Amino acid sequence: MTARPGVVYLVGAGPGDPGLMTARSLELIASADAIFHDRLIPPGALAGARSDAELIYVGKAPPDVPSPGGRHGYSSDGTSVSQGQINGRLVEAARAGKSVVRLKGGDPFVFGRGGEEGEALREAGVEFEVVPGVTAGVAASAYAGIPVTHRDDASAVAFVTGHEDPEKAETALDWEALARFPGTLVFYMGVKRLGDNAAALIEAGRNRDEPAAAVERGTREGQRTVVATLGTLAAAVERESIGAPALIVVGEVVERREALAWLERRPLHGRRVVVTRARAQASGLAATLRDLGAEVVELPAIRIEPRLESEDARRAIEGIGEYALICLTSPNGVHLLFDALRDAGLDARVFGGTSKPQRVRGGGAGAGAEAEAQGGAGDPAAVPDDAVTIVAAIGPGTAKALAEHGIAADIVPERFVAEALVEALASVEVQGRKVLIARAAEARDVLPDSLRERGAEVDVVALYETVREDPDAMAVEAAQTADYVTFTSSSTVRNLSEALGDRFPSAARIVSIGPVTSEAARDAGLEVDVEAARHDIDGLIKALLADAAAK
Ligand code: SAH
Repeated sequence: MTARPGVVYLVGAGPGDPGLMTARSLELIASADAIFHDRLIPPGALAGARSDAELIYVGKAPPDVPSPGGRHGYSSDGTSVSQGQINGRLVEAARAGKSVVRLKGGDPFVFGRGGEEGEALREAGVEFEVVPGVTAGVAASAYAGIPVTHRDDASAVAFVTGHEDPEKAETALDWEALARFPGTLVFYMGVKRLGDNAAALIEAGRNRDEPAAAVERGTREGQRTVVATLGTLAAAVERESIGAPALIVVGEVVERREALAWLERRPLHGRRVVVTRARAQASGLAATLRDLGAEVVELPAIRIEPRLESEDARRAIEGIGEYALICLTSPNGVHLLFDALRDAGLDARVFGGTSKPQRVRGGGAGAGAEAEAQGGAGDPAAVPDDAVTIVAAIGPGTAKALAEHGIAADIVPERFVAEALVEALASVEVQGRKVLIARAAEARDVLPDSLRERGAEVDVVALYETVREDPDAMAVEAAQTADYVTFTSSSTVRNLSEALGDRFPSAARIVSIGPVTSEAARDAGLEVDVEAARHDIDGLIKALLADAAAK
């Protein structure tokens, strides 16, 4: 269900890992007219908002760092705009008929002042709904391998604020009761006052040797956990410079971390990996690397510039029905071809005919015995020569892009290089026929040359050009300490090494997707440490994992 006009949604965004946002929160973010958000929301949390939605930052300074504004500069949950102002703006937006999302870190009702906002809305007669979020007390602990309850160690858990409203004169915390509490104590906003709070607990009778931990940036990139005892945690936190946001956990359950820590055991934990693909294509690779525990630096070396307006491209699209064979050599090429078809008022039916040719899969250089294609890769009779356009994809990624547009590629070689496609096409009769190769401007000529040799009338159309992306200074800085730099094409190698010059991270290991990219790397003076056996993104990740495991 989408956000309703005139309603305010008090929505929890979770502790920071975008994957821990609820389905409901994403649905509401995607449909709201206005989103009032804090600072501590997950990276990319607003990416799904409507392009015309109002995104209003109602600032949140780190709660454990006093803001320059002093008394009114921030409140106990760190909002730097006063709570009264926020309430007023929520009411105003709802009364103007907008659907409003109030997005907060963690859960809105756990030290999130969601209760106060709800009360103000009720008083103003504004309808609201509450969407709970995964609260940091549970999530940061879990990501640190600390179960807040355990059958043997803790039958109760208390969520406690370690930093009360500075405007309150007296502490409301009953240290005697907390010292006696039969279970785990989880302190939010507790770093700054950790020393005082721990001393108060010990004074009130809690065991100074009880295990205790601080979890910094829980569930976020760069999460750190420090384990000590109640008596020594403050010094340990100081020594390790643990800062906000951080959570303090006191209890026997902390010892379970020894067996249960999982985050640090992920295969790429602690490795910094540079992704150089064009920004538009980098997300899949970056997400997979992050899931494996890597810290990803996105440093796109190239950008895709469509060239659909060129005379060549226009002519090819107009006459698309005349081609007996269409070869696509990248997912970009596929998506742009369909953009061009759409602009020309056409669709996937231009590939159609009266019958469907049989699939020719496998084949390709080096695939050898694996080429047990249905229909037989080496059997020319496998592809009937009627009016149906045969569609060939250079590799599985390109085939997948075609499938997204409703086209099942007829020919997909196992290996992701032009030579493999040349070999797989051996079974297709091309003599005297028109062939379209839709690809990047700067591609190699292996494929058109071989088809021309076999008597085909080949049109090579550049649907896009890859141009150099200016490197972002912060990303370049972050890349200096990288463990790996990944290259997925020769153009990324050339452009990045030229763009960075002597700022190229020379200590990083170079991972290449395949021989053509490796060649380009060597030409650029780089030593290739790892080359994927399978020349696609999965193959590259596999090779990187194997190398990291061996180190
Ligand atoms: N409503 C939020 C809490 C807001 S109070 C929730 O339910 O999680 C802010 C405090 O939450 C911080 O000072 C810190 O103690 C804790 N916190 C929030 N995000 C955190 C994170 N990613 N890791 C560790 N602690 C976090």
